Parts: sequence; C-alpha cells; structure tokens
Amino acid sequence: MDGDLLVNRDGVRIVSQSEPDAPPPIQPADNQMSLADIDTIKVIGKGNGGIVQLVQHKWTCQFFALKVIQMNIEESARKAIAKELKINQSAQCPHVVLCYQSFYDNGAVSIILEYMDGGSLADFLRKVRTIPEPYLAAITKQVLKGLLYLHHEKHVIHRDMKPSNLLINHRGEVKITDFGVSAIMQSTSGQANTFVGTYNYMSPERISGGKYDYKSDIWSLGLVLMECATGQFPYAPPEQEEGWVNVYELMEAIVEQPPPHLPSDQFSPEFG
Ligand code: ATP
Ligand code: MG
Repeated sequence: MDGDLLVNRDGVRIVSQSEPDAPPPIQPADNQMSLADIDTIKVIGKGNGGIVQLVQHKWTCQFFALKVIQMNIEESARKAIAKELKINQSAQCPHVVLCYQSFYDNGAVSIILEYMDGGSLADFLRKVRTIPEPYLAAITKQVLKGLLYLHHEKHVIHRDMKPSNLLINHRGEVKITDFGVSAIMQSTSGQANTFVGTYNYMSPERISGGKYDYKSDIWSLGLVLMECATGQFPYAPPEQEEGWVNVYELMEAIVEQPPPHLPSDQFSPEFG
C-alpha cells in the first residue's frame, strides 16, 4: 500500500500500487491556445470572482476548464497580474493544476486550466460528509507535495487554501488550484476591507495584519483537514447560531483562541 488515493464514480479507495502515470494533457501543436479555438460545453462552477466552464479544444477535442474573472483593472495593476499569470503558467508539478494560457481582454481575465473531472474537495465533502483518516493521509501527502513545490520552487504563498481550491480527478489525483489568483484579487482591490473571499481558513497572523509566510498555507491546510475529518469547520459559531453571522467574531476567535484540536479518541495522535 503506498497510500495513493483513487476517486472514481464508485467512490474513493486507496490503490495498492502506483498506477502508471497518465500522459500529460496534449497541447496544441503551436503551444498557443486562443479563445477562438475552444467550444464551451457547460458551466461547472461559480465563485466570488467569476465562473468556471468546461470547454473543449476544437482540434484536439481535449477538455479544459476556463476560468473567467471579471475585473476592471488600472494600468498599474496590469503588471502585477501579468507577473502572477506568468508564475501560474510556468508551474509544472503533478499536484498543482496546470495553467495553459491566460488572457486579459475586455475587462476580464480568462485562464485556461487543466480540467479536473472529480470536482473540488468541497463538492466531494458535501457528498461524503466526512473523509476517514487513511484517505485523508493520502490526500494530504499529495497536497503537501504541491505546497512544497509552490513554496520552495516557485516561492509563492498560496493565500487561499480551502476545500474548493483542492481539485480531484478520476485518477485519484489531488491538485492545488488558484494560487496567485488571490494575489491578483488583492493587487486590484487595494484595500484589505474590500476582500471578498472567506476568512475561515486564514491564519491568525494574517488576520492580525502582521507579517506572514509559507506557514500560513499550512495553517489553512490544517483547518481543511480537520473539517474533512469531522465534517465540521473547526471553529464552532457562538451558541444558538447556525453559522458565523459576524465575520469579526470569527476573526476574533481565530486570533484569540488556542489552535483547535481533534478529539483524541477518534484520530491518531499524529493527526490530532
Ligand atoms: P471563491 O471564488 O470564493 O474562491 P471557488 O474556489 O469555489 O470560490 P472558483 O475558483 O471560481 O470559486 O471555482 C468554482 C468551482 O468550479 C470550484 O468549486 C470547482 O468545483 C470548479 N472548478 C474550478 N476549477 C476547476 C478545474 N480546473 N476543473 C474542474 N472544476 C473546476
Ligand atoms: Mg477556486
């Protein structure tokens, strides 16, 4: 057992041997793809920033995911975005979602990404409610390899590690996506209080506005794993409330409470 995870229509299992690696997606011969070369199949997801569509390349019939983020950016922000998109496009790691091409056109950034047919860990978690520890170990191993690559090879902090940014495919591969996207959003929104994402997984040092580094992503991953293990976000909202209605209360809890732990009778000491 090498701990690799396989997810398919029948569910999730650990494969006993590594399966041969599938060939990387074929790229069009000239290595350039334009929006004119692709057909839209359907919308597969919506986020705060925009929509994600399943698209098909006209000539190779290969599937991709197209992410379109609406933004009106000033000249000064363009450079920052171009830089981020370049990092995105140069990332080559089996545990980071490949970015093939990106464009800025007519007030929207379009990014052509590797299509992950199993959806996100958030979608998966909604279906299964909790993920047993051995499977989580397999997922974690892959995500950590991806993070190691981003941190030490690309020298970027992801900044938005959360279940919807971890994607799965039918081969049981788990990959990190949307690194750099949060940096783009930040560079265009300017003020911190225009942040529209979730604070749930944000580390205390980031919330406090202090210096933060790679470890911030590890904090976020820790909370994601705890949520997968128990089926619940680790910070419980105040009594009689369904969820966190006040984001400032949540932020205060994250900064002031000791880090959450898993119940020691249900999980291994290493995980807890
Ligand atoms: P937010 O905008 O708050 O960060 P999000 O991460 O869910 O939330 P998007 O990144 O726009 O928003 O993604 C929306 C959904 O589209 C994801 O939850 C996922 O299910 C799907 N998705 C995103 N990228 C891909 C991809 N490369 N392959 C397959 N599905 C994807
Ligand atoms: Mg996302």
